[in-house]
Amino acid sequence: MVNVEDVLRARTRISSIVKETPILTSKQLSEKVDANVFLKSEHLQTTGSFKIRGATNRVTQAKSEGTNFITAASSGNHGQAVAYIANQLGIPATIVVPTDALSSKVNAIKAYHGSIEYCGTTSAERIPRAIELAEDSDGVFIPPYDHPDIIAGQGTVGLEILEQVEEVDTIIVPVGGGGLSSGILTAVKEKRPDIRVVGVEPEIGDDTAVSLKKGQITSVKGTDQTIADGLRTTQPGDLTFPILQKYLDDLVLVSEDEIRFAMSFVMERMKQLIESSSATTVAAAMFGKANVVGQNVVCVISGGNVDIQKLDELLVNTGSDK
Ligand SMILES: *Cc1c(COP(=O)(O)O)cnc(C)c1O
Repeated sequence: MVNVEDVLRARTRISSIVKETPILTSKQLSEKVDANVFLKSEHLQTTGSFKIRGATNRVTQAKSEGTNFITAASSGNHGQAVAYIANQLGIPATIVVPTDALSSKVNAIKAYHGSIEYCGTTSAERIPRAIELAEDSDGVFIPPYDHPDIIAGQGTVGLEILEQVEEVDTIIVPVGGGGLSSGILTAVKEKRPDIRVVGVEPEIGDDTAVSLKKGQITSVKGTDQTIADGLRTTQPGDLTFPILQKYLDDLVLVSEDEIRFAMSFVMERMKQLIESSSATTVAAAMFGKANVVGQNVVCVISGGNVDIQKLDELLVNTGSDK
């Protein structure tokens, strides 16, 4: 299992590329939640999400092992992160994306000089193709969450939280495949086991909640319907799940309306554009899911990549009288 030493090594390895992102606070948000709320702001990270942390840790090591070609299967934040770091390190990268990928996302990958290959519409089609492309050219496939280097890289978010916020009671983190949450858990629970860590998933993307209840990795259907597009995984990872089982204090669910409200509130009152996957943590605090009243609570804002053409489908009236 990944341990805190791996996370500390990852931090050294990625420090010249990855930013230490700020903690943002808002009186209005803290009043709404009835707690001291701190937002760990990975929407202000290089490439717009925390994914650059794990990708940098993994690709840096692949390079030191002599790799000269990288592939990934994602049109989203992971694809952008891998394209960015490969370009920084001077390694060609091919990113396999679905045939229906939004052009804004494809263009972001192209802007980082990643080559695009279109393949199918599901990850079950994309991933084998990206692995095959890597094998054909003696390259390395970079998975989005289920690898020790990825988990350790994402865990650096946890180290920063411990340094940036005093007397943390609870950290709330979104759970997709579980790379971010298992990394943060590894860093936080080995250093400060007294801090509560709560995971959050959309109600219609509850694969990890179901798996934890059953005590084994379980696949669920229909997760592609959530607006939280970073959390549409159908099951947790083989490596991430045991870490979640071992350390996670609670896993809570939020509705699509609650996600919309939280995203709109943060945009309106704090002027921060956060993506819906990130808004789940604010929603969990705001709607009483995570039991944080009166506490110092850190909501991990995992990213800020939003297709602004589609913003009106995501925002709702928060009842502000201003
Ligand atoms: C990938 C992603 C997540 C989920 O992270 P996992 O490591 O898959 O659990 C959450 N939010 C954003 C913005 C993401 O890009």
